[in-house]
Amino acid sequence: MYIIFLGAPGAGKGTQAAYVAQKLNLLHLAAGDLLRQEIEGGTELGMKAESYMEKGVLAPDSVVMPMVLQRISDAEAESGIILDGFPRNLKQAETLDQALTQRGKAIDKVVHINVSEEELVKRLSGRRICRSCQMPYHVVSSPPQVQDSCDRCGSELYRRPDDSVEAVKKRLEVYSTETAPLIDYYSRAGKLLTIDGEGDVGEVGERIIAALHGEGL
Ligand code: AMP
Repeated sequence: MYIIFLGAPGAGKGTQAAYVAQKLNLLHLAAGDLLRQEIEGGTELGMKAESYMEKGVLAPDSVVMPMVLQRISDAEAESGIILDGFPRNLKQAETLDQALTQRGKAIDKVVHINVSEEELVKRLSGRRICRSCQMPYHVVSSPPQVQDSCDRCGSELYRRPDDSVEAVKKRLEVYSTETAPLIDYYSRAGKLLTIDGEGDVGEVGERIIAALHGEGL
């Protein structure tokens, strides 16, 4: 089973993908997390992606696509995959479709998490991420039990450099020009499920699970 989570920065893709993956026993593959791990590890791929990510623009397809497609095929024996943050433009979506078709597979559903722009900005400005396991927190709505320390693994929390006001503005712009056309692409393919992303994490997560179950998944 292949499910894509689509949404603007701050819509809760990562949080919801982690929630739903755990409940439905699926593998969570997050393109941004993979890139951040490459940066932390000081790899060549990480160095190629870093300057783009800091500015809030998309990293080049030539860097992101082979990395994600490789992880998908490594994970193919698993019961299913949630793709979070990939694809992010039409070229990536078409390449993904072709790669899956070649293996006799296809995307099952695309969960589009819909959140107002005002809420997006509020969420991103208070976001903190675990440096080690990437678990997301929010200083007001979901703070860690111990300040600046991850509840799950105890590592330090940090503010992503691309959550700065300038980078957030750019990321929202990039989303509307490059990624939002995918809503139409998957809608035409009859695969789109639009979910109201406002509410607490469990509430939205259960909405997504109910919608997927409603589709027989
Ligand atoms: P995210 O963690 O999903 O918010 O992604 C953070 C940043 O990583 C984005 O702003 C992009 O610079 C880069 N990135 C993540 N996924 C992709 C992708 N599919 N294509 C290109 N760049 C990506």
